[in-house]
Amino acid sequence: MQAYLCETCGVQFSLTSAPPEHCPICQDERQYVNWGGQAWTTLDDLRKRHTNTIKLAEPDLWEISTEPGFAIGQRALLVKTSRGNLLWDCTCLLDQGIVKTIQEMGGLFALAISHPHFYSTMVEWSHAFGGIPIYLHSADAKWVMRPDPSIKFWSGNTLPLADGLTLIQVGGHFEGSTVLHWAAGADGQGALLTGDMPQVVSDRQYVSFMRSYPNLIPLSARSVQAVVDNLQGVNYARLYGGWSGRVVQKDAQMAVTRSAERYINAIEK
Ligand SMILES: [Zn+2]
Ligand SMILES: [Zn+2]
Repeated sequence: MQAYLCETCGVQFSLTSAPPEHCPICQDERQYVNWGGQAWTTLDDLRKRHTNTIKLAEPDLWEISTEPGFAIGQRALLVKTSRGNLLWDCTCLLDQGIVKTIQEMGGLFALAISHPHFYSTMVEWSHAFGGIPIYLHSADAKWVMRPDPSIKFWSGNTLPLADGLTLIQVGGHFEGSTVLHWAAGADGQGALLTGDMPQVVSDRQYVSFMRSYPNLIPLSARSVQAVVDNLQGVNYARLYGGWSGRVVQKDAQMAVTRSAERYINAIEK
C-alpha cells in the first residue's frame, strides 16, 4: 500500500495498492492534467530527488522551500508565536532534515492551509509532529484526498489560532480560500500570509484575483469585491504570497485596494 502523490498538483491521496485513476484536483477547471497523462509519485521517491531548505524571512517567520521545485512549487511559512510554531501552507516534501530542524525550533502546534492546491502531504506533516491539528476551511472539505483525524474543519469567517494569529476566509479562488493574519509581523504593523488569494504578481506592487492561475480564468467583479470586503478592518503592511520572493514588502493594504480597483475597472469597462 502506498499514499500516492499527484505529480502535477503534489496532493497526496489515501493509501491504495495501485495509483488512483484520476486526480480530481487536476481535473477541476482551476488546474490541469499533466500533458503526458496523469502521473504519480511517492514521498520516498521525492526524498531521493529533492531537499527542503529553511531560511529566515523576517524575525519570527521562516520560509520552507523544496529544491529543485516540485509540482506547484509553493513554499510553506513557519510563524513563531507565544503558543508555539504554526506551519502556514505546506510543501509536498517532508524529509528528516526539516523535521529535525523544526523540532530543534520547538516543533509545531498546528498546520493551517490556504486552499486545496496546497494540501500536499499535510497528513504526513501532522503525523511527524505527533498528530497536530490541520485547520482547513469546511467549504473545501470535498477536495481532501486523504482524510485523517488530524484534519479539523472550521467554518465561519474567522478563526483565532493564537494571540495575534487569525485565519480569515476570503473566498474567491476557492470558496474556502483562507489567509492568515499575523498581527506581530512586519515589525508590529501586521502581515498577511495569503497563498494565492490574493496572489502577489511579478512587480510585487500589486496582487491579483483569479479563479484559475494556470488557465487564466478571471473572477467576477462581485467575487473580487467580496475578497476585499472580507479583509475590511484587518491591518497589515506586508503581504506574503505562496511562492518564494512573492512578497509585497510595504503598504500592502493599499496594494490590495488599488489592485482590486484596477481589476474591477478592467473587467467592467
Ligand atoms: Zn493533481
Ligand atoms: Zn490555487
